[in-house]
Amino acid sequence: MDKMTAKGIKRISSPAEMTRYVVEQKQEGKTVGYVPTMGSLHEGHLSLFKKARENSDCVIASVFVNPTQFGERDDYINYPKNIERDAGLAESAGVDALFIPEESAIYPNGSDITVKVHSKTDVLCGKSRPGHFDGVATVLIKLFNIVKPDTAYFGMKDAQQVAIVTSLVRSFHFPVKLVACPIVREADGLAKSSRNVRLSVEERKEAPELFKGLQAGLRGAKLGETRFDQLIATVKAYYAKHLTLGKIDYVDVLNYPDLRRSGTLLSGRFIIACAVRYQNARLIDNITSDTELFTTVSEADESC
Ligand code: AMP
Repeated sequence: MDKMTAKGIKRISSPAEMTRYVVEQKQEGKTVGYVPTMGSLHEGHLSLFKKARENSDCVIASVFVNPTQFGERDDYINYPKNIERDAGLAESAGVDALFIPEESAIYPNGSDITVKVHSKTDVLCGKSRPGHFDGVATVLIKLFNIVKPDTAYFGMKDAQQVAIVTSLVRSFHFPVKLVACPIVREADGLAKSSRNVRLSVEERKEAPELFKGLQAGLRGAKLGETRFDQLIATVKAYYAKHLTLGKIDYVDVLNYPDLRRSGTLLSGRFIIACAVRYQNARLIDNITSDTELFTTVSEADESC
């Protein structure tokens, strides 16, 4: 059930207990900021916790590896877990309460009722991971109902997720404000990810090329290229030259956040996104048109 760690962060595993805690906080007049995660925390997650800490009186994070958003069983089973480490990091970043439910608590009747996302899923990760965003939307409905946050924080690392969760909140009338936070990167530009630990030494050396390829595409656009296809070709040409171990899953350029192409020429805000498969990890990365090109470690701040 519910216990305090020696260090003070509150750990809650029961959904009913989580809701009671939030209701108490709100009765005291506190605003609640929430960051859903799958754990194996790194600085990307911590940046969301810190943002929530700045903006809210009470910060709640969850660690739940959601089975319904994984296509490959192995990826789910092998997803890195270390709850003691996560609790310490969350506390150090200002989280007040950590929600760590069991699968049976979140899915008490298995997958008897799920939702289907009909829009924005035929591209990028939605195309190569069928059903992934149905799982994401289903679990977020559950988590939002349990945690009832005023504000929820998501990373632009998963830009398609941000776009879909924005639609979810509107479609289901959740009284939640969403804040999209910039991608946190390693010093060499690799986007921080829980899956980076699965890269071999050689793969890790190559992985920063993903971001460099996206930057090459954005540079092309900033220099005046307006054809979607030509920008995709620029990024693919960069990868053809610089990736020897990674296999491209997709490279795409789309308007953001609607994830469509408005005609054949770029107009308005857009995203250049990629997914690359290594032996034991599939990495994703993206860059949006409002990103400063000289910035390699984090993107411009933004909210939606
Ligand atoms: P995950 O634990 O992978 O489900 O991620 C939880 C949240 O952290 C999601 O909103 C992610 O987009 C966000 N996130 C993961 N990696 C990063 C990163 N490198 N920079 C910013 N946010 C991130």
